[in-house]
Amino acid sequence: MSEARDWLTEGLPHIWLPYTQMATATPPLAVVATQGARIRLGDGRELIDGISSWWTACHGYNHPHIRAAVEQQLATLPHVMFAGLVHEPALRLAQRLAALLPGDLERVFFTESGSVAVEVALKMAIQYWRNKGQEEKKRIVYFRHAYHGDTFATMALCDPEEGMHTLFAGTMPDQLMAELPTDESLRRAFDLLLETHAERLAAVIVEPLVQGAGGMKMHDAQTLAFIAEACTRHKVLLIADEIMTGFGRTGRMFACEEATQLTNTVPDIVCLSKALTGGTLPLAATVARRHVFEAFLSDDPSAALMHGPTYMANALACAAANASLDLFEPVHNSPRLAQVAAIEVRLSAELAPCRELAGIAAVRVKGAIGAVELSGDIDLKHLRLRFAELGVWVRPFGNVVYLMPPFIIAADELATLTAAVRKVLDERAAQL
Ligand SMILES: *Cc1c(COP(=O)(O)O)cnc(C)c1O
Repeated sequence: MSEARDWLTEGLPHIWLPYTQMATATPPLAVVATQGARIRLGDGRELIDGISSWWTACHGYNHPHIRAAVEQQLATLPHVMFAGLVHEPALRLAQRLAALLPGDLERVFFTESGSVAVEVALKMAIQYWRNKGQEEKKRIVYFRHAYHGDTFATMALCDPEEGMHTLFAGTMPDQLMAELPTDESLRRAFDLLLETHAERLAAVIVEPLVQGAGGMKMHDAQTLAFIAEACTRHKVLLIADEIMTGFGRTGRMFACEEATQLTNTVPDIVCLSKALTGGTLPLAATVARRHVFEAFLSDDPSAALMHGPTYMANALACAAANASLDLFEPVHNSPRLAQVAAIEVRLSAELAPCRELAGIAAVRVKGAIGAVELSGDIDLKHLRLRFAELGVWVRPFGNVVYLMPPFIIAADELATLTAAVRKVLDERAAQL
């Protein structure tokens, strides 16, 4: 493995890692290969991946169907600019996303990352009202514990205390934070907030059912449906940030479907990314309902949507996304949503014993997401180290230890993950 050591020791001094205090960080692990639910390291060890590479690798790694689609695309058309030119993988993907999403969510704008997909949603919402002659409607309501990205406009929509962005306070647009309307009195307060500010509000943005990076907080479909109805009542657009929840993670193809089923509400704009390409290539999509798109149709060129990332609708990424969507179809004999349902049952049973331990605030499970919220002092560095020592890739943040495994994970691999969580939290409880 001398070759592996060379790229590692020679390259590391030139790398700046994300969310990492580089002075004191534990050295990163060198990965040489991935397969299924496993990550192989340069020193020969193999880790079972409990978090699907930031929640992307829903089919596991190196799925042959996605690999074949990308290889074929690479040979014919890897990329071409997407202004004035279009290509089959992007158009097929747009059509398929429109067919899968509820209601008339049917117009797709492609970008390359989740944060940018949210930025585009914000532009759509603000310009929607501007195009309708209501220029003053440009503020955004977001929720406590929200996370919508790392760029400046999206940082302004992250929980100001728990978020990672407090040091940029004062440099971002001032938006309105609300409590999730999870009970009657919070519902009245939320309704009043929208009523009071309606004339200045462009949109409400929500992570439907599960707030991810803000702490894996969960709410029910009634709450989501109430938010949607309040938005309609007060003429405010609803943006569903499904970047984490989209593509089966919460048990349905999209989390917002649960509210649609209850009250027939459909978000005006949906943001997708993370699992869109099955964890293989960067791609994101902002999908608008018909009435949103129609507000941009005019004789006035300045009423058009003014956005266009250089690599938008990258053909390789679109081919990967189409292949990933294939894998959700029954013809591929891979019942993804049934796998998610089975993971939900196992996570519920296998994480439940954590509730008995000291230093545990809550255990929450939804679809293929299992979260254990900790209380008391938390030594993240130590927890992360212990998980790697136990042969699993689990990376707690803030006050949560969570699992979001690939949907194809085997029952014994999942059992290894949940056993590691119980063991590490048991060790911690003994120290409290
Ligand atoms: C990850 C995430 C984003 C940001 O996506 P990036 O691709 O990291 O920019 C936005 N919203 C939610 C809900 C996310 O989970």
